[in-house]
Amino acid sequence: MKRILIAALMLASSLAYAQKAPKNIILMIGDGMGYNSVALRMLEAKGTSNFERFNSIGSVKTYSAGGRITDSGAGGTAYAIGEKTYNGAIGVDTNKQSKPNLMEIAQKNKLATGIVVTCALTHATPASFSAHQVKRDMYEAIAGDIINSNVDLLVGGGMKYFAKRKDGRNLIDEAKTKGYSIYTDTTSYFSSDAKKAMVVVADDHLKPANKERGNYLAPATLKTVELLKKENKNGFVMMVEGSQIDWAEHNNDAEYLKTELADFDKTIGAVLDFAQKDGNTLVIVLADHDTGGVTLPPAEVNSLSEEYGNYAIKFSTGAHCGTLIPVFAYGPGAEKFQGIYQNSDVFHKIMQLKKWGK
Ligand SMILES: [Zn+2]
Repeated sequence: MKRILIAALMLASSLAYAQKAPKNIILMIGDGMGYNSVALRMLEAKGTSNFERFNSIGSVKTYSAGGRITDSGAGGTAYAIGEKTYNGAIGVDTNKQSKPNLMEIAQKNKLATGIVVTCALTHATPASFSAHQVKRDMYEAIAGDIINSNVDLLVGGGMKYFAKRKDGRNLIDEAKTKGYSIYTDTTSYFSSDAKKAMVVVADDHLKPANKERGNYLAPATLKTVELLKKENKNGFVMMVEGSQIDWAEHNNDAEYLKTELADFDKTIGAVLDFAQKDGNTLVIVLADHDTGGVTLPPAEVNSLSEEYGNYAIKFSTGAHCGTLIPVFAYGPGAEKFQGIYQNSDVFHKIMQLKKWGK
């Protein structure tokens, strides 16, 4: 009897585990967002940060192939194709061979796909999920790949790489023949019912959060979630990037950094609200690497003082760092993202959860 009970319990728990496969995956990348940038956001938010809503936390080792500090090309590509590669690579392995990315694999499995960023769509992180090129600065070639990527909804900047090209091609016209609706402002996208759309709202990158970008990332992400969910009963895979956290850190600009982190945090909150209601969505928030080496030392050190006053925001470099990077996960399968592992393992964990072969 006891043995039957144990067998029944094991069956029940394996069924419970089997039911845990997420239908939708939302991968959120804060470019350059290391542990101390997250800590800064939590201090600034005074207990209201959405980062504190996660309870599955892990860390990733982000170095690129060869043991170097990663750039955004190799970092994004590790998440997109599940392999560490050389710096500057876009969706290709160390032999410069194209490997199927998460979006292509999702499409093969009949899911909808989307990308929402605050930079040009051709920039390293979004390009890693929608193109295959040997060098990240081949923006026009990357744009050519993007219109053939079949990613259902693409939201970001970079119009000049599609419509004002050296080779004279107009990829916006070509994208229309491939079934894309084109929007050049978010207002018309927000009122649309688009199934396949390119929303290209800036000539190059979008403005910084503290300079006229306005409320863009959270509503653009939510609209894209809404359309992808409506479009495809099998679910969707989406990549959202807070692209300019990295640039604020490269510039060692604390005010810029604070507003970019607040904007990304707000977007995380909107996504978590959706995921909580939906119940079938796995949300993974991480970064490709640390930038700027942010530290939060005391603003004033007074040997007579018994307590520290405020913290200062200091940068130790204008470049990328080799530090561990936090991973926050919520939803079905979130526990799989606990522990310390390689950046490229994130891809394989998603593949296992979705039971996808490469
Ligand atoms: Zn980066």
